[in-house]
Amino acid sequence: MNQRINNTVPSVAELKSLAAGRWFDILIAAGIDADKLNGKGHPCPKCGGRDRFAAFPNINGRGAVHCRHCFTKGSSPSPGDGLATLQWILGLDFRATLGWLADWLGVKSESQSKPRPIARRTVTSERGTNAEPLEPSIDFDDLAKQFFCEMSRERRESLAKKLQVEPRTLVRLRVGYSEADQATTWPMVDSGGRCIGLRLRGHDGDKWSYRGGRGGLFVPDGIATKIPRLFICEGPSDAAAMLSIGLPAIGRPSCQGAMPATVNFVRRIGCHDVAIVADHDEAGRNGATRLARLLVTVANTVRIITPGNPGDDARKFIAGGGTPGHFDQLLHEADALMLAVRRSVPNSTERN
Ligand SMILES: [Zn+2]
Repeated sequence: MNQRINNTVPSVAELKSLAAGRWFDILIAAGIDADKLNGKGHPCPKCGGRDRFAAFPNINGRGAVHCRHCFTKGSSPSPGDGLATLQWILGLDFRATLGWLADWLGVKSESQSKPRPIARRTVTSERGTNAEPLEPSIDFDDLAKQFFCEMSRERRESLAKKLQVEPRTLVRLRVGYSEADQATTWPMVDSGGRCIGLRLRGHDGDKWSYRGGRGGLFVPDGIATKIPRLFICEGPSDAAAMLSIGLPAIGRPSCQGAMPATVNFVRRIGCHDVAIVADHDEAGRNGATRLARLLVTVANTVRIITPGNPGDDARKFIAGGGTPGHFDQLLHEADALMLAVRRSVPNSTERN
């Protein structure tokens, strides 16, 4: 069991000395892939590219990394130590980063827990279904960050176990906790990455939305531009399951939800091969077909796959042993929907 070393907030120096020699695990927990920490050039976990990201020597001792594009001498924070790396990858301010690290190290004191934010709750009206939602009047980016900081490592690990996903995928999806709602919070973003709503999930698995927000996409940190293929799942826990086996995935709020945002997101990241992972039921199938017709306008190849048996979803399929190889097989068997099929394709017969 982790024991608190004292009742006061640990100092920065104390946290740094506790973290020294454990940075490798800490940075993995924060969402950086282990194989990117070998000192060689890799795609940046935040902004992609080919080899712009690298860890500095003695990664486990110091925790320093850099990205030539988004984490350089001129950026704030700038690279130098593990705390700066954490602040950069988690996107938190310095104080919140210390809180996250203290929690990970098991030395977070109660006095560090912030009271629950009081948000102005208003309900915006609906508008056309072909447009993305209006800007909500609550600062959901801020709210999501505060809930993220309230999510303890212990709670995250127990949620991950329950969902049968990797805990760090929950960090990448910025899953938080609301004490007042007694629920985990799952941020939903628009196609530009701005948080516009929160999905709440109670202890019994009940789901509802934070009032005043809108349905959006569940997008993990580090979905880089120029990925060769993107999986689009129904719901955030399916996306977490896909991410857990190393497949780049985002989640939609429901089988019919956030279609314009999905199309805009795929266009923005420039991914030309997308796979819609549909639930194995009629509603899932219908929603996927509708989305596929929209996606062929921005992607070269769109496939629909339904893993597992009737009634299953991707998470259940993966929990039952589904691997990336199984998904390759499903994609291989699926029909590829392409815009090209709408044009007349010349064939081998001679025409006069
Ligand atoms: Zn970068």
